[in-house]
Parts: sequence; C-alpha cells; structure tokens
Amino acid sequence: ENESTVSITVVGASGDLAKKKIFPALFALYYEDCLPKHFTIYGYARSKMTDAELRNMVSKTLTCRIDKRENCGEKMDQFLKRCFYHSGQYDSEENFSQLDKKLMEHEDGRVSNRLFYLSIPPNIFIDAVKCASLSASSGNGWTRVIVEKPFGRDSESSAALTKALKHYLDEDQIFRIDHYLGKELVENLSVKVLRSMRPLQLEDVVIGQYKSHTKGGVTYPAYTDDKTVPKDSLTPTFAAAALFIDNARWDGVPFLMKAGKALHNKRAEIRVQFRHVPGHLYNRNFGTDIDRATNELVIRVQPDEAIYLKINNKVPGLGMRLDRSNLNLHYAARYSKEIPDAYERLLLDAIEGERRLFIRSDELDAAWSLFTPVLKELEEKKIIPEYYPYGSRGPVGAHYLAAKYNVRWGDLGVDQ
Ligand code: NAP
Repeated sequence: ENESTVSITVVGASGDLAKKKIFPALFALYYEDCLPKHFTIYGYARSKMTDAELRNMVSKTLTCRIDKRENCGEKMDQFLKRCFYHSGQYDSEENFSQLDKKLMEHEDGRVSNRLFYLSIPPNIFIDAVKCASLSASSGNGWTRVIVEKPFGRDSESSAALTKALKHYLDEDQIFRIDHYLGKELVENLSVKVLRSMRPLQLEDVVIGQYKSHTKGGVTYPAYTDDKTVPKDSLTPTFAAAALFIDNARWDGVPFLMKAGKALHNKRAEIRVQFRHVPGHLYNRNFGTDIDRATNELVIRVQPDEAIYLKINNKVPGLGMRLDRSNLNLHYAARYSKEIPDAYERLLLDAIEGERRLFIRSDELDAAWSLFTPVLKELEEKKIIPEYYPYGSRGPVGAHYLAAKYNVRWGDLGVDQ
C-alpha cells in the first residue's frame, strides 16, 4: 500500500510568529499523536542556518503541558529530529526547487501532501505563493497554503491579494488564518451573517488614539511618541462601532464592537445584554449599579476562557434587596486540562482539510465591503481620532455610542 506523508514548510521560519506559535503548536500536535505517522517539518527563510541551528532555536520555545510532563524531553528530541531547514529567497523558483528535492527525499516515494505556512510579511506573500506553487507543489497529493493576517487594508487591496493568490492556487488550497477563529470558545458560536449586515455608518463609529499618561510616577507614551510614527498621525489605535443585522432574527438588536491598543486590560469577550423590561417588579431599593445593569451573558475568549451569566437575583429573606450573581462555566476549573492554543486546532484542521474555521474569499469580500466605505470616509474627511489616556477604558465617545443604543461596555464592577 502506498502510504501518504505530510511535509510542512514554515516559510519565514526565522521570524517571531514561527518561534512563538507555529513550532510550539506543531510540537503539541506531535505530542498528542495528532500528526500523521510520516511527516517532515521544514523551516524556510533567507537567514543562514543549519538543521542543528534551527533545532536549537526551536527547542528553546517548546514546552509540555503541565499534565503531560512524562517523556517530554524524549518526545522533544524525536520531534526535533524531524525538523530541517532550507535557506532561500522568497522570490526564487530555483531555491524552492531545491526545497522540493529535499522534500521528495523525505517523502521516499509515498503519496506526498504539502502544507506551506506563510509566516512572512504580506508584501512577499505572492512571491512565495508563486514559487511554492510552481516549484514545490506536490506531484501526487494535495498542496495547501496557510496565509496569516492582514488580508489587505480595504476591499480593493484585499481583492487584489485574492486575485493574485487565485492565479496560483484554487480556493480549496487557500487557508486564511485568523487565530481568534480557532479559540475553543469561538467554536461555540457560528459567525455566516456577514452578508445580512448593514454597511457601517460614520455616525456609528468612534475612533481614538492613545495619548501619554502618568500614573504612580510612571509616564506611559503616546502613540505619536513612537519614533516611526509621524507627530501629526491620524491613525486610530482604537475603534468602536455599532452594527446591525438585517434579518428577522436580529431585527433591532444593536451589535457594539470595540477594539484598541493601550487599554486598561487585555481581553476578548462577547457580552449579550438583556433588555430592560418596562414596569420592573423590584423597582425599589436598588443599588445604582443594579439599577442600570440588566442580566448579561458573557463569553470570555481570552484570557482565562469562560462563559457566565450575570443575573440580578433577590437576596433571600423578607427584604427586597437585589444582588448580582454569576452562574459560571469557567473552562480551566470545569475541564481540568490545559486548553490547546488556537494554532494547534488550526494547523490540525489545515492538515485534515477541515475548512470550517478558515476564512473563504467570499467571506473576506463581504467583511471588507462592510467596513471599506467608512474607512474611506474617515480618510477623506481626515477625521481626527478622539484622544484617550494610555491605560484607560478608551475615549469618552465610545460610552456615548453605547448609551445611544442602551448598551453598557461591561466595565461596571469587577467580573470574576
Ligand atoms: P517577522 O518576524 O517580521 O517576519 C518573518 C520572517 O520574514 C523574518 O524572520 C524574515 O526572515 C522575513 N522577513 C521579514 N521582513 C522581510 C522583508 N521585508 N522582506 C523579506 N523577508 C522578510 O513576522 P512575524 O511576526 O513572524 O509574522 C509573520 C506573519 O504573521 C506576518 O504576516 C504578520 O503580519 C502575521 N502575524 C503575526 C503575529 C505575531 O504575533 N507575530 C500575529 C498575527 C499575524 P529572513 O530574513 O530570515 O528571510
């Protein structure tokens, strides 16, 4: 029987993402016996390195899960023996042909499946895709390419990138990675509503830029203090927006999103806030927070994955006092094992050809067409971002935007 083999080439292997995420994720998959029996990993970049130097670099980044310390060192050695390095240019078909020859030696006549992970800056994606596809594609199995964000900066640049990728690859060979889509918790949601979304309006957008702030004797920098940033830069480092889905199920439900740098904490979460009911039963004796806060479902994607429902409940007894309680599903406590990194899930899916968590070209188009008109308007009208202090909750305008739609940002009180 002609067995198959998978060759995984990390293009840009000398870089930050490869070291921090990709090699550790590949090792975790190997440790869990999730990689096929026959596999080879190649690092590819311009830097000169021997196989031994690559292994040394990779070995420094590998860790074992707390509950899996047994055999860890031995497993690492076995894994590293299957890692190799080839130095080459990203735009050289000849260098990729040399890689092809090496991959063939390892494949040893088996059916060859090849995965290229492009962990390189976006301006060299197309060169690398071209050379990999023309000179190092599999002859008798599949060839797949994982590309990292960013996928363009507006509809046009994204479409140009997709067009160029499609020149060398079919849609089913392209795996666009957005590592948030590989997080355990996001898998509980099922995201295909993009096409029903109304294009974003300028009045429903707040942009901000962080300014310097001194706290406890420490001065934190402004965005424009960075030497590479022009002093009069209008680049937003924060955005909040209200979006609407025009279908029967979500009619009239506002979706508020915010994201930013240099905020008071680093969190990714989804909050579903229930509406205020008219003619509230327990209208007396409320604390101010409770007065404002309705029940809320929180899905915390990172850090410390959890799903919890914050409910207002009456304190038992003859009085009429309300209290807020959390009904909590805290992943780390409920599932007493370490949660795999998103990259592990996504790499395994790409090897298995499971496309559910990757972004298709038409989804990407739909996403860009929601945001491009407003991005253009911001640029053309030279809208000045609202300043917010480093380490704060973001610009005040974001709070007005939320209030306009009767939503809170979930910053009231401290959540577990
Ligand atoms: P990086 O370290 O800047 O680049 C990776 C490698 O690409 C470098 O080691 C370098 O290798 C080569 N390279 C860098 N600049 C180049 C240039 N101008 N021309 C030719 N080659 C160049 O990038 P990274 O942080 O690993 O990220 C890789 C990709 O993932 C990027 O597209 C990034 O946007 C995306 N991404 C990164 C992260 C992250 O956490 N780092 C998160 C999400 C997405 P050689 O000089 O050895 O060839």
